[in-house]
Amino acid sequence: ALRVRGIRKNFGDHAALDGVDLDVADGEVVTVIGPSGSGKSTLIRCVHQLETIDSGAIHLDDELLGHERHRGALRPLSARRVAAQRGRMSMVFQQFHLIPHFTVERNITEAPVRVHGRSREEAETEARALLERVGLADRAGHYPRQLSGGQQQRVAIARAVAARPRVMLFDEPTSALDPELVEEVLGVMRQLAADGMTMVVVTHEIAFAREVADRCVFMEAGRIVESGTPDEMLTNPRTARLRSFLSRHH
Ligand code: ATP
Ligand code: MG
Repeated sequence: ALRVRGIRKNFGDHAALDGVDLDVADGEVVTVIGPSGSGKSTLIRCVHQLETIDSGAIHLDDELLGHERHRGALRPLSARRVAAQRGRMSMVFQQFHLIPHFTVERNITEAPVRVHGRSREEAETEARALLERVGLADRAGHYPRQLSGGQQQRVAIARAVAARPRVMLFDEPTSALDPELVEEVLGVMRQLAADGMTMVVVTHEIAFAREVADRCVFMEAGRIVESGTPDEMLTNPRTARLRSFLSRHH
């Protein structure tokens, strides 16, 4: 489970996150929606510790991320321990960041072998099973440039799953794709959700948020201004701001 409490993040004198609380239970899917600049990416980047927070706390499975208590005070963890904590989460970005000169299979096996110390044989067996799951069993030997954007993103998701994360963080995974390729990626994410993966998904796909999310949060200006089940929130928004956001995104 993920527990975010009162986190703030400033860039200069601009508060990108202005006191955010978020709980994600095991197996739960939470979607994050909101206008550009509202802090959605910053939130999941802070969770993934790509950004340090200025105050508040983030716990993963009851372990404080990024800091440890030492004689009653908090001190930052070593880079090595931060990396170990980060390794328990996987992030999927808008741009797929596949390694261009590695085959699809090698893109998936590289981290399990090099970082997680698995045998190449085991990693390859798992990679093939994952490629099957994302509908790309026949593409193991291809290079990223030989794939469509939707296929590349499915490989990126397979790679993220290969790390056996406790939580997967998605930052607008379909917004760089041609419209006709969006559905194949959402289908893979839908399957992951059905398989019980714990997921935080920043998305503009309101229909996906409605269908897959256990809970949805709406951010504006660095705060969560509304949250609830997708039905409550997306059908009967309480705030005028969410109502107007939804009218622009349907
Ligand atoms: P979008 O929908 O456009 O992706 P977002 O909700 O993900 O927007 P963030 O990227 O989290 O928004 O940005 C929140 C605020 O923080 C914005 O005002 C942005 O300009 C600012 N910001 C984000 N990253 C940085 C940075 N590295 N340096 C300075 N300001 C930043
Ligand atoms: Mg963003």
